[in-house]
Amino acid sequence: MKFREALKSVSPYVPGKSIDEVKREYGLDKVVKLASNENPYGASPKAVKAFKSYEDLHIYPEPDPEDLRQKIGEYVGFDAERIVLGAGIDGVMENIFKLFVDSSDEVVIPIPSFPYYHILTRVCGARDVCIARKEDFSIDVQAMLDAVSEKTKIVLLCSPNNPTGNIENEEVVREIAESCNAVVFVDEAYAEFSSKNLLKLAEYENVVIARTFSKAFGLANLRIGYAIVSEEIRKEYLKVSTPFPLSTPAKLAAMAALDDQEFLRFVVEKTREERRRVSKKLMDMGVKVYPSEANFILIETPLKSAKLAEELLKRGIIVRDCSKFIGCSEHHVRVSIGKKEENDAFLEAMEDVLCS
Ligand SMILES: *Cc1c(COP(=O)(O)O)cnc(C)c1O
Repeated sequence: MKFREALKSVSPYVPGKSIDEVKREYGLDKVVKLASNENPYGASPKAVKAFKSYEDLHIYPEPDPEDLRQKIGEYVGFDAERIVLGAGIDGVMENIFKLFVDSSDEVVIPIPSFPYYHILTRVCGARDVCIARKEDFSIDVQAMLDAVSEKTKIVLLCSPNNPTGNIENEEVVREIAESCNAVVFVDEAYAEFSSKNLLKLAEYENVVIARTFSKAFGLANLRIGYAIVSEEIRKEYLKVSTPFPLSTPAKLAAMAALDDQEFLRFVVEKTREERRRVSKKLMDMGVKVYPSEANFILIETPLKSAKLAEELLKRGIIVRDCSKFIGCSEHHVRVSIGKKEENDAFLEAMEDVLCS
């Protein structure tokens, strides 16, 4: 069979190992997963209830549910006509790429960042132009602007950035948006955990701000993402979107989750509190911890990350070895912030690995 030439440069997305896999492989009965930035508190019980309440599973869902867009609009402070929906941020991003990226176009990505950006760019037959971040992982604006050409269709920014955890300065993103014709796609998957966000920049026609229900809202399995776009982009977006990206149970869960702001606050406060505590304990062990505004931290130890991840696996803790992330070093490991007892299990295992 003759597959598209572009696929030769692509390797499949590698998800973290599952708890069951690790239990089986290592013969453990207790395993803690801190590898996929999932919400350890789960979704709001009201969202779960709303999801379960829907039984007409034989009926196609609405293609572009206005009630959900309305509610999201109120949540982010933009008109429902500026909201587009998709199967997670991943689905939204795919649609935005369908709108702008042809083969031999370019997508500029500050590295390290989310691996799927590189995959999607290459699947489109475009080139991922990788620009190194500064020491503190902030964007090198000049290098970014120098990299932008007429071929650049999208500049992909992530704030808080996965896997580094830092947020991007609003003025920096503003400068990029004003200085280029490309679409500036801002992935704010972790915005709820952060002290600041970049929503204000949605005032620019060429800025797309993407959000998700997968992280702070704890609905990763339901695949619900959205973005704030210009009305012009929204019109085109509806042409390329799959006809029914969102199931009705997913929509109902998302709406109930938005209604339960108290649960969201609980999740965010707990996560921040634990983020502070875990970071401090690790630093006390001599581990380098990068400051994070997300529900994970990037750490660096003298051990190679593959070795550290393996040693932690043996002790029943799954973390993310980042050595294969484009732009990461062989010593970078990403750790999600879990519940207190999960974090304690991780800290204990770290102590054991580093001091033995
Ligand atoms: C988790 C994650 C996503 C995926 O979000 P979905 O809405 O579940 O598709 C997107 N971007 C970043 C940076 C992520 O970490």
